Formats: sequence, C-alpha cells, structure tokens
Amino acid sequence: MPLEYTSVENLQKSYAELQKTFQEGKTLPLAFRRAQLLQVARMFQENSVALADALTTDLSRHKLEIVLPEIGPIVSGAVQAAESLEEWNKPEKPQVEAWRSSWDTTIYSAPKGVVLIIGPWNYPYATTMIPLIGAIAAGCACIVKPSELSPSVAQLLAELFPKYLDRTAYRIVNGAAAEATALLDLKWDHIFYTGSTVVGRIIAAAAAKNVTPVTLELGGKSPVFIDAENTDLELAAKRILWGKQQNAGQLCVAPDYILVPRAHQDATVEAFKKAYKSFWPHPKGSVDPLSEMGAILNPTHHERLMKLLGRTKGTLVHGGDTEGTRRIEPTLVADVTTDDALMDGEIFGPILPIVPVEDIQEAIKIIRERPVPLVIYVFTDSENTKDKFLTSTRSGTLVLNDTFVQLGVYEMPFGGQGNSGYGSYGGKFSFDTFTHRRSYINVPAAAEPFFQSRYPPYTEEAFEA
Ligand code: NAD
Repeated sequence: MPLEYTSVENLQKSYAELQKTFQEGKTLPLAFRRAQLLQVARMFQENSVALADALTTDLSRHKLEIVLPEIGPIVSGAVQAAESLEEWNKPEKPQVEAWRSSWDTTIYSAPKGVVLIIGPWNYPYATTMIPLIGAIAAGCACIVKPSELSPSVAQLLAELFPKYLDRTAYRIVNGAAAEATALLDLKWDHIFYTGSTVVGRIIAAAAAKNVTPVTLELGGKSPVFIDAENTDLELAAKRILWGKQQNAGQLCVAPDYILVPRAHQDATVEAFKKAYKSFWPHPKGSVDPLSEMGAILNPTHHERLMKLLGRTKGTLVHGGDTEGTRRIEPTLVADVTTDDALMDGEIFGPILPIVPVEDIQEAIKIIRERPVPLVIYVFTDSENTKDKFLTSTRSGTLVLNDTFVQLGVYEMPFGGQGNSGYGSYGGKFSFDTFTHRRSYINVPAAAEPFFQSRYPPYTEEAFEA
C-alpha cells in the first residue's frame, strides 16, 4: 500500500491546532495524560498483530524481533508512565540556605510545549513511541513523523492514531525530506530526532534558528573488545552474533567491528562459526528465505553492503552469500586493518569485521582515535580490563559481556555522545527530555530584614558586613 504523504498545508494546520490545544491547557491535567498513555498501550496491544505484520512487510523481520524490542516495551512503558505520573510530576523542594527558609522555593515540572519527533525506518515503533510516551507524560502536544522508508508502519500509525489518541494533541505527519523540511520551518519547543548523523546536523541547524532544544539519537561504529584470555569465547561469540544479526545488522547499537588480540583471532573465528551453526543449522551456502534473518531495507542498501564486501582487503572467513537483493548471510571478515573500507562508516548490515590488535592498549587507542560511539561492548571477567574501559574511553553506553540489552533497561538513560548524538531517553528519561524544570521563587515581605544592606544608598559598612 503506498504511503499517503501529508500535504504541507495540512501539516501546518495540524501544527496550528496543536498549538491551540496546548495553549488552552488541554494536555496539562494528569488525568488527561494518564488516559492518553493508557490509550497508547491499548493501541499497541489491540493491534499487535497488524503492527507486527506491517513491519514484517517493510523489513521481513521475524515477529519475535518485533514484539521483544518494540511492541512489548511500548505497552509496558506506556503503562509504567501512566502509573508514575504523580511521582514524576511531584514538585521538588530544594534544600536552601537557612536565611532563605521563609521563601517558597519549588521546582515544578512544566511541559515544554508543542514538540516534534522524527524517526528512522529501522526500529520505527520504538524510536517514535518511546519518546512519545515521554512527551505525553510531560504534558506536551506532539507531532510524530515516521520514516517514509518503512511505509506500511507509517501508514498504519496514521490510521491508528486518530482512533486511539486525542487528535487535537497528537498527530502523525507522513512524508520524506520535503515534508520534514516543512516541519522544521515551524517553531517547536523540542525536537527529538533519531537517524543518521548527516541528517542530524541538518536538524540541529534548523532548530538553532528558533533556539529549539534538540535530542539527537544518532548512529556510528560501535566497537566490541574481546578480552579473549579473560572471557568465555564461545559465549561471547554467541552474544555478539545475536546482537549483530538483529534486524540484519540494521541497528544503531549493532556491534560494528571486533577488536581481539591477534593470538586469539583464529579461536574467535571458530567460536563464531559454532555460534552460527547453533543459530542456523541449515547447510552452508543456502540462505533459507524462511529463516529468521531479517531483510536488507532495499536494493540500494544491499548494493552498498555488497560493494563494501568487494572492497575489503580483509579475509572472508564466514558467510558472504546473498539471496537476491533482500538478504545477506551474516558475514565475518578477519584480518581487517583500521584503514579498510569496512572501517570507514557505520556498516548497518550483517557484516562483522575483525580487527586484530596487539593488546588492550592498542584496542583502546583505536577506539579513542575515532568518533565517540553510541556504545562500546567489552567481553571480559577482568576487573582491570573493565576499569581501563571505564576510565580511558568515551561512549553513550558501556556494556560488559552482552550486546543489545541496554535498550531495554529503562531505569538508565539511553543516548549518545559526540557524533553519536546528545540527550537521552527511556522511562523517566523520556519524561525529563520533554519537561522544563521550572524554578518558582516567592520572596515574602517577612524576608525584608535580610535585605537591608542590598538597597542604595550603598555604604562601605554594608560591603564589609
Ligand atoms: P535518516 O537520517 O535517513 O532518516 C531519519 C528521518 O529523517 C526520516 O524520518 C527521514 O524522513 C528524515 N529526513 C531525511 N532527510 C531529511 C532532511 N534533509 N531533513 C529533515 N529530515 C530528514 O536515517 P535512517 O536511514 O532512517 O536511519 C538509520 C540511521 O539511524 C542509522 O545511522 C542508525 O544508526 C540511526 N539510528 C539511531 C538510533 C539511536 O537510538 N541512536 C536508533 C535507530 C537508528
């Protein structure tokens, strides 16, 4: 089904309506926010089959890879936010200096206003709805623009939104760069963007014109270090391969490349082959179209990945088969050097290069010479290695001994640093993103005795006091 793009006139109309709704205070009462949050949960629960089908149509992703990282967390996240509204919105009374004790000093959580969420195609539900849950909980009105490259998802969301949510406060706008540009011409109170670093720069520049705060959830090359002497290599390979093959490697937190001491490269390759066999026991060379592997977005992305494989000077040690222009077998390339084509940009596909290093120092040096990644994965049981990575590297997140799990830990902020973005979300952090912490100060007349020295005429005595 072709995606219906929203006309510029209609998106401007939606924006004006949302402004009116927010100005009238409709999104402010906690009862309204709670009802809308529960409607988000209901929308995803009642339509889980249709929502999963839409994503399978767009990306051929296995249902388990849709329900676990997307539909499940949206339902539970919306319910949790609804249950946490009082707690999250509770005014705070900071401890002030004793002489100010007669003042009323309170920090209120105020909604930022009318906000915009722009999402990518690869995890189109989680990257738009988890921020939306925060925006609703904060009391904002919100327009969501899903990616035009996951059209079935975008179309379905446009149909479901008015059936479940208050349409004067929450809207889907559909379209591509032109529609996104028209949205960016409007003045927002926050823009939450997930996608590539290239477009992230455009978003931040457009937002700067209106002094609009922005969250940028971007991608990049997330490294893995295997401390082979201090880890269970087979378990490490299994966990890395599992994270890498999610959505055919089209994942912002995909393990992008592996750094392993040279002496352990061969054992690492063997461990991966073993893990691969346990995941996909079908005969080598026949990529089973009915297997659980996700599909590459489109022929252009498929061609980009195959060209990368053609240009690498590393050794293909596993995989490399393709099925038409939809699937690429999870592929391992060994003996990759840091100037190889595979080390240029985010791979965003099921190709995993291994860069052999002398030791942990060289691994850390390679990571530090590159843009700050969204995540660093380290497989080790050594406290010394953990400590070295914690103190000598920078990344959005540091995950020890697993991959991909960080997205589900909503008690912690998820976000990048440097080229992988700024700001964060997940659970209360999504609420914080769309909330202005508004200081409220009331200075009573009773405080006057403390102010005698501040009024002119100024005297030397007052200065000395
Ligand atoms: P993209 O930047 O091409 O598109 C993202 C969104 O921006 C889409 O809605 C698109 O319509 C819009 N857009 C495109 N051109 C635009 C322009 N000129 N002006 C304004 N908006 C424009 O990204 P993508 O290909 O959809 O997503 C893949 C990227 O997203 C990868 O780099 C991946 O790592 C990253 N990503 C990051 C996270 C995270 O949480 N950090 C999550 C998922 C994906």
